[in-house]
Formats: sequence, C-alpha cells, structure tokens
Amino acid sequence: MKLLSSVAEVLAFRGSLEGQVGFVPTMGALHEGHLSLVEASRAQTEHTIVSVYVNETQFNNANDLENYPDTLDEDLQQLERHGVTAVFLPDYATIYPDDFTYHLDEKAFSLELCGAHRPGHFTGVLTVVMKLLNIVKPDKAYFGEKDFQQLTLIRGMVDAFFMGVDVVGCPIVREEDGLAMSSRNLNLTPCDRLKAPAFSRIISRQASDQEVVLELEAAGFEVDYVQTLQGRRFAAVVMGNSENPVRLIDNVGVS
Ligand code: AMP
Repeated sequence: MKLLSSVAEVLAFRGSLEGQVGFVPTMGALHEGHLSLVEASRAQTEHTIVSVYVNETQFNNANDLENYPDTLDEDLQQLERHGVTAVFLPDYATIYPDDFTYHLDEKAFSLELCGAHRPGHFTGVLTVVMKLLNIVKPDKAYFGEKDFQQLTLIRGMVDAFFMGVDVVGCPIVREEDGLAMSSRNLNLTPCDRLKAPAFSRIISRQASDQEVVLELEAAGFEVDYVQTLQGRRFAAVVMGNSENPVRLIDNVGVS
C-alpha cells in the first residue's frame, strides 16, 4: 500500500495505474462504515485510493475540530488489510495552497438541515471534495448515506460542474444496537454511549417530526433538528456537556 502526501505524488501514481480507480475520502478514525465504502470500491474497481484528511474548513466549532479522534496507525493497518492500493495523507498547505480564498458555495439545500446549524459546513465539504476529486481523478467515488445531505450535495456538485465522476452512495452501517457508526461515537462517555441507540430508535417511529422531537428531548437528547423531506427523516442531536459536546446525525426512510 502506497502512502502519498503531495499532489505531485498522487498525480504521478494515478498516472501509473491501469484500470478503473475508486476513491473513498475520509477524515480517519475509521470504522466499519468507512470500510464498507472501501469494500464497495474494491468490488467495483481495480484500484482503491483512500484519503485521510481532517478538513478544518468544514468545522464551524474549534472544540469539535480539536477533539476529532485521530487513530492513524490503526487506520493504515485496516486499509492495508482491506487491500487498498494507496492512501493520500495531505496536510492543510497541500489542500489549501490558496488558504481557502477560493471556495465552492451551494445556495439552497446546503443551508437546510445540518447547514442551518453549522454555518459554512457544506462550503468546506464541497470545496475539499472537489479538490480531492480533481487531484485523484477517480472513475468512481464512494460516499455514505449516513451523511445523506452531503451525498446529495456532492451529486449536485458533480452534475453542476460536469465533473464526470460516478458518485456511488453506500448504505448506513450501524452498530448492533442500531447506533449509526461514526468516528465521533468514540467521544461519547460510557453513559451516553448506552443512551445513544435511542436516537435511531426514536427517529424510526411512525410519528410526526414534532412528536419525535419531544420524545428525543424526553430521552435526554438536545435536538438540533428533526425534519422529514422527500420520504426521509433527517435528524441531529447533541449529547454530552458544553465542554465535550458530541453531535450525532442520522436519517431513515419513512413511508
Ligand atoms: P467521515 O470520515 O466521517 O468524513 O466519513 C467518510 C465517509 O464515510 C463519508 O462518505 C461518510 O458518509 C461515510 N460514513 C461514515 N459513517 C458511515 C456509516 N456508519 N455508514 C456508511 N458510511 C459512513
């Protein structure tokens, strides 16, 4: 497994590859959710490239960025075991030689749901994903439905800018108790980890969004939003205290 850190290294390595290339962008602290994307790429393409980069421009909260888990050594071991061809490990200067002077804005859906609660979040996401896709130039790129709004916005960006990459959405991978896997779950206290599965359980109920909000609050969650759009209920809650808040998002199909 090749480790690449500069744009020039990626371009040279990419040029040497024959066959289809699949790409899985991540922020590390890998779990089975990320690895399901890697497996999908492995099944559908000849070469899989994974990036591990904690993109600071998508964090609107300095504490959240500082506390973001970092398990790079284990991540690399897992990726090697899963047959990844190369890992791109850039730093800020590599991704943002312009110091984020140029960025990509979406003016509609990015302002709803998570965008309404995390100003600028999707500008950071779309900007970094476009940069990564331009550097890696994959045939297919894999994203999880766990971040369904992100997946929708990335599909929209790829269409709007005629980027010619096949965006593949992958189903949410959950813990046995139903909690959607997330790197941030590592930051839950043992007590909150026990309470967290109620989040997916409650949002899956056949009830109005308002009733779901009340139930979540009664179960001890601080609710950012619960909103059903186009047959899908999207929700975000915060657990923990003000010093160590942990934000969880999830979505479920509702009939
Ligand atoms: P992240 O490292 O959180 O930026 O996630 C990298 C990619 O993994 C994104 O496309 C996520 O949607 C996807 N992902 C994260 N958690 C899960 C999960 N539980 N199931 C499926 N995909 C996931």
